[in-house]
Amino acid sequence: MGASLVLSGRIAVISLDNPPVNGLGHETRVQFSAALDRAAADAAVDAIVVTGAGRAYSGGADIREFGSPKAVAEPNLLTLIRQLEDCPKPVVAAVHGICMGGGLELALGAHYRVAAPGADIALPEVKLGLIPGAGGTQRLPRVLGLETALNMIVKGDPVQSERLAALPGQRLFERIVDGDLLEGACAFAAEVAARHAADGGPLPRVRDLAIAHPDAEAYLGYARNMVQGMAKNYPAPPRCVEAIAAAVAGPFDAGLQREREIFTALMFTPECKALRHAFFAERAAGKIADVGDDTPRRAVERVAVIGAGTMGGGIAMNFLNAGIPVTMLETAQPALDRGLATIRRNYEAQLRKGKLTQARLDERMALLTPTLAYADIAAADLVIEAVFEEMGVKEAVFRQLDAVMKPGAILATNTSTLDVNRIAAFTQRPQDVIGTHFFSPANVMKLLEVVRGAKTAKDVLATVMALARRIRKTAVVAGVCDGFIGNRMIEQYVRQAGFLLDEGCTPAQVDRAIESWGMAMGPFRMGDLAGNDIGWAIRKRRYLEKPGLRYSASADRLCEMGRYGQKTGAGWYDYVAGQRDALPSQVVATMIEQHRAELGIQPRRIGDDEIVHRLVYALVNEGARLLEEGIAAKAGDIDVVYLSGYGFPLLRGGPMCYADQQGLYNVARRMRQFAANPHDDASFWQPAPLLARLAAEGRSFT
Ligand code: NAD
Repeated sequence: MGASLVLSGRIAVISLDNPPVNGLGHETRVQFSAALDRAAADAAVDAIVVTGAGRAYSGGADIREFGSPKAVAEPNLLTLIRQLEDCPKPVVAAVHGICMGGGLELALGAHYRVAAPGADIALPEVKLGLIPGAGGTQRLPRVLGLETALNMIVKGDPVQSERLAALPGQRLFERIVDGDLLEGACAFAAEVAARHAADGGPLPRVRDLAIAHPDAEAYLGYARNMVQGMAKNYPAPPRCVEAIAAAVAGPFDAGLQREREIFTALMFTPECKALRHAFFAERAAGKIADVGDDTPRRAVERVAVIGAGTMGGGIAMNFLNAGIPVTMLETAQPALDRGLATIRRNYEAQLRKGKLTQARLDERMALLTPTLAYADIAAADLVIEAVFEEMGVKEAVFRQLDAVMKPGAILATNTSTLDVNRIAAFTQRPQDVIGTHFFSPANVMKLLEVVRGAKTAKDVLATVMALARRIRKTAVVAGVCDGFIGNRMIEQYVRQAGFLLDEGCTPAQVDRAIESWGMAMGPFRMGDLAGNDIGWAIRKRRYLEKPGLRYSASADRLCEMGRYGQKTGAGWYDYVAGQRDALPSQVVATMIEQHRAELGIQPRRIGDDEIVHRLVYALVNEGARLLEEGIAAKAGDIDVVYLSGYGFPLLRGGPMCYADQQGLYNVARRMRQFAANPHDDASFWQPAPLLARLAAEGRSFT
C-alpha cells in the first residue's frame, strides 16, 4: 500500500495506492519518490505514467495526517513535484475519478497530463480556510489562464475534466482518453518519448509557461473587489487572489514562496481552525465508538412512512429522491390525498425552477404508493412513523407495526420530544426500534439526529447511519432525552432571548446582534418561522414538570394574542401578506413593556456582545451537560448539529468549538458573571461540571 511500479513495455506505470482516494500520506510519498527514482534510472524505461489505483487519481493530502508532523515530513509534496519536473524522462499524469488539492498539484508537476472524461478536478483548499500550498495557485493559472484558474481556486468546486479540456488554449490536458485510460496514457507516453528522443529538447514544465491574459492587472483589480465582497468574513478567498497575483508578477519561485507564506499564515487563523474542525467533526460524526465499520447492515430497499403530514411528506421525498420506493400510510383518504398532493406540488415547484425534469418527477412519483392498510407496508425494510406527537397515538402505531412488520424490519420514530425507549417498549422487538429525528422541511434540511435507544441493536444503528448517507443527510447520533441534542440546547438559548427582552432589548435588537455575529436567523425570527405555538406547548409541559424553572412570560403573552408567527401573519414581528419581511411590531413592543413593568424591571441598554454571549454560552453550557450525560458522544457531534441544522456560522466551527476558541476559563468566568444578574437564571449559569473541570485543567471540549 502506498505506490506501485509496473512496466508496460517500455513505459513505467506508477500507481498511487492509498485507499480510499489515494491521499498523499507519508508512506505513499516515500514509495512514490522511490518508484520515480527507480523508473528514471531504469534503462528499460522510456517514459513514465503516473496514475491512481481504484476510483481516484488522488484526493490530495491524506486527511488522517492533517496537522501531524507526518503531513510535512520529507519527501513532502513540494519535493515530489520538483522530482517530477526534474525527471529526465517524460512523465504523463493519467487523471481519473478525483484529482483534487495536492493530487492536482502533483499532476501539475508532470510534463504532460491526460484525463478520463468525468474526472472531478479541483483545488478545494479554500473550503478549509486555506489556499493551495504546493504550487496550485502558481501553476493552475499557467495551464488554464488567469480567469478560469482564479474562479476555481476561489470557489474550490470541482469542474469536470472534459469541460476544462475543451477550453480554448488550455494546457492542462493534452487529451481526454475515452476508453481505457491507462492504455491511452501509455500510448501517449510512448509518442512523446519517441518525439523527445528525436528532438532532444527540454521537457515541458508548467512553471515555464506564461500566464495568458490581455490585461492581467486590470482583471486582478476587479477580482480583488469581487472576491472581497463575496468572501465577507472568510479570510482565505482574498488571499487566493493575492497568491495568484504573485504568480502573475513572477518570477515563479518568488510566487511559490508567497503562496507558502500565505498558506502558513492562514493555517493559524481561528477561521481556518474552525473550518477544519467542522470538516473533521462531520466525518467523525459517522463514527460510533462501539459500532465498528465492520458491523453488518440490514438491506433497505423499501421504505414505509406513517403519516402524510408536514414531516411524513418531506421524509418520503428524501427516499424518492434516492430512488427508494416508499409506501405512505394514513388513517383516512383525505389526509392521504393531501399528503400526496403536497409532495407533487413540491416537485412541480422544482420543475418550474428547472431543478427537476418532468421525467424525473414522474419517476419519483411512480415510486410512491399511498395506502390506508397496514398489510401493504408489512414487507418494508424500514418504517418511519411521523404521526401526531402524542404518546397514545405513537403507542397505537407501534403496536400495529409490531404485529404486521416482517421480522428484522427497522421501526423508526420521528418524535421530537417523546421517550424513544418507551415507544420501543410498545413492541416485542425494542432492538429494532430507533429514532430518526428529521428537521423541517425534511426534504431540505441536511441534519438528521439518529436517536439510539437503550436497546437499539448495533446493526440497526449502523444501517440507519449508512442510509442517512444514501439520502444525503448529515447524521449525528443522540441518546434518549427530551429534545435530543439540538432542541434541548435551543430551549436554553430561547429562554435567554426571553430574559433579554425583559431586561430591555427589543426582538429586532436581539435578532440583529446574533445575526451580525453570523447566525442565519435570530431567535425571534426563528420562532416566527417555526411557529411560536410549538415552544408554548413545550413550556406548558415544563411549567408542570419543573415548576421552579424561570421563563420570560412574554412568549406566552404573544401566543395568547394568537401571534403564532408567519403562519398567522403575526408573531414577534408583523408580516404583510405574501411577504416574509419581519417588520417591528408596536403591539409586541407595548406587550413587552407592560410585562417589564409588571416585573418591576427598569430597562437597560444591553450591548451586542452581551446579547451574543448570553445566547451562545447558553448553548455551550447545555452542550456540556449533554456531553457529560453521554447524550452526545463528542463535542464535535454537537457542533455538527448546530452547523447543519440551526444556521450556526460555519466560520465559528459550532458552539463547542467557539467556546474552545474563547478559552474555557474565560467562558466559565463569563457564565459566573451572568449568574449574578438578578433577572436571569443563576442556577443555569453555574458552569456545567464538565465545563468547570475542563476550564480548571486548561483543557478544551474538542
Ligand atoms: P402533522 O400534524 O403535520 O402530520 C401528522 C400526520 O399524521 C397527519 O397527516 C395525520 O393525519 C397523521 N396521523 C395521525 N395519526 C395517525 C395514525 N394513527 N396513523 C397514520 N397516520 C396518522 O405533524 P408533523 O409536523 O408532520 O409531525 C409528525 C411527527 O414529526 C411528530 O412526532 C412531530 O413531533 C415530529 N416532528 C415534527 C417537526 C416539525 O417541525 N413539524 C420536526 C421534527 C419532528
